[in-house]
Order: sequence, then C-alpha cells, then structure tokens
Amino acid sequence: MFNIENLVRKNIRELKPYSTARDEFAGEASVFLDANENPYNAPYNRYPDPMQRELKRAIAAQKNVAAEQIFLGGSGSDEPIDLLFRAFCEPKEDNVVAIAPTYGMYKVAADVNNVEYRRAPLNEQRDFCAGDLLSAADERTKLIWLCSPNNPTGNSLNRNEVVKTIENFSGIVVLDEAYIDFSERKTFLSELHKYPNLVVLQTFSKAWASAGVRLGMAFAATEIIDVLNKVKYPYNVNVLTLQHALQHIVQREHDVRAWVKTLLAERKTLLSALAALPCVLRIFPSDANFILVKTTNANAIYRHLVGKGVVVRNRHSVELCEDCLRITVGTPQENAALVAAMGEV
Ligand SMILES: *Cc1c(COP(=O)(O)O)cnc(C)c1O
Repeated sequence: MFNIENLVRKNIRELKPYSTARDEFAGEASVFLDANENPYNAPYNRYPDPMQRELKRAIAAQKNVAAEQIFLGGSGSDEPIDLLFRAFCEPKEDNVVAIAPTYGMYKVAADVNNVEYRRAPLNEQRDFCAGDLLSAADERTKLIWLCSPNNPTGNSLNRNEVVKTIENFSGIVVLDEAYIDFSERKTFLSELHKYPNLVVLQTFSKAWASAGVRLGMAFAATEIIDVLNKVKYPYNVNVLTLQHALQHIVQREHDVRAWVKTLLAERKTLLSALAALPCVLRIFPSDANFILVKTTNANAIYRHLVGKGVVVRNRHSVELCEDCLRITVGTPQENAALVAAMGEV
C-alpha cells in the first residue's frame, strides 16, 4: 500500500542533489585542498561532515536504531518539519491532516509551502480516534501530523489509535515525540521497523536541555531518510552543534536523567500548588515538562504575571484552550515565584 516513489514530489524524485567536496572524497588523506577552505583556524576552518556520521553513530547506539534511520536537522525540529512538506507535498494540490490543537510549526510550514492544512479537532479528553482523523484525509493527503505528548495540551495520545492511523494510512504519519522523555509511555522508535510510513521526531531542545544548540532528529525507514537527505542543505548541521551534541551524548547522559527526574518531581509539586489557587479552575493531566491550566481569566492573569516578571504562555485563543495558560516546569525557585504571583490574583 505504501509506496515512497508515488508519494515523493516529481521534481524531488528527479532531483540530482548537490555533491559536496566531502561527498566526492571520503577516504583517508592528510592534505585537503579540495573545498577552498582556509588552512588556518582549525577546527572551524573545515566544512562539517554533511552526513554527520559520528554523531549519528552515537545517537543510534543511544536510541537503539540504525544510523541510516536518522536524519539530523541543524535548525532543530523546524528543519525536518519543513523538509517533509518540501519533499512530499505539491503546493496547491496536496494536503495534510493534523490533530487540533497542536504545535504551531506544522501549520506555519504548510502555509510557507502553500499546502492545505486540515484540522482534525481532538475530543473533550484531548485525545483522538483514528477513524475520525482518517475521514478528514483523501487521496491527496500526503502527511498526517500527530504529537504525543501533545503541545499545548500536555497529554499523550491513545497508543492504539496512533497504531490504527499508521496502519490505515497510505501516506506518511509524523509522530512528534519532543516531550517523550517526560512521559512513562513507550516511544514509537521501537516500532519503526514495522512501519515504512512512520516518521518519529525528537529534539535536543527539551529533556536534553540544549534548545540553543538547534538540533532536531527525525527517525524513519531509510527510504524516507534518503529523501530528506537529498533535499536538505548540504552542510545543515554546523561544527559547533555537532561538537556540543557529541559531547553531551557521551558525557551528560547521567545529567539528563537527573534533570528529567527533578523536573518530574517538580511537576508534581507544582500541580498540587496550582490546584490550591482560587484562580485555577482545572489542571489538565501532563506527560510533558509543562502544565496546561484553565483559569478564571487567562488574559488578566497573564498580564498580572508579566507585571511580576513571570512569563507563561497564554493559550486563550487556541481551540479547546479557552482561558488556559501553559506553564513550563522550572526550578523550585522559579515555580515558587509563579505560584506566589498567581496567588495574588
Ligand atoms: C518544543 C517542541 C519541539 C522542538 O522544536 P525544536 O525546533 O527542536 O527546538 C518540537 N515539537 C514540539 C511539539 C515542541 O513543543
């Protein structure tokens, strides 16, 4: 049923990708005079490995996938999100379907690429049913966007419905797992070998505490990864990002685990403190490092908090999030400052 050749845009199928100096010579040598680099100021004088082989090997070992199943984005997850549209969606002809509400970048990337974006509203439990979602799709639907745990609602999506969606859709299902490290649910990375049409997105920005470094990851069958590699900018992950990420993976895995543990404990503390506040009407269950709360008046409380120097995300204008604030779990001191300021409302 799934056929990558039919799915990819014709111009991309026929594209002859740019071939870098590093692509054309991959053997051992000591004198590099092939890329018009400056011989001084090592190591920043050299172009980075266009395929990021060393970093992919480290990530592959850590995530228990093959290096060939990994695409790395040097502008965070924004890069694979945009590339999926550019590679698979013909502007003004194809469409995509996404749960709603969800992460705003999918819609922005659709608009930039002039691709119709269809919203499939989540239900009252902020969850979805594969049948309803798939009924929004037609023969021109190339991508389905799922996010679990979902932003801004915080909950995980029903695993059986995710599976049903993947199994019953002939296009690509993108499952954004940016917050998976904060959840007790299992990642879909272990299911990759079963599904040729599944793309899992993860990022260095959340649990890995490296949002400033801008490194995103897409995991999929090699057929899909090959298409993304063909379309990407040749040197899309820079030397500084590669260095940081490699060091981080090798040396700081223990720290990452400790940070996640601390943040989960803080999430629990913050939940009970928020529940006791008169201005908080409802707290939605969270599998992420943020909490969505329904308040008596999101706009007024947001302004009050800003006056106290505390910034949260006002989600009042988002569907199913009327009068809701999205609060990131911070340090104990930061969380206490937030609760104190909200207590004055
Ligand atoms: C934060 C977030 C990301 C990460 O984006 P980066 O570009 O990698 O920083 C991806 N998806 C969702 C749903 C997010 O909330």
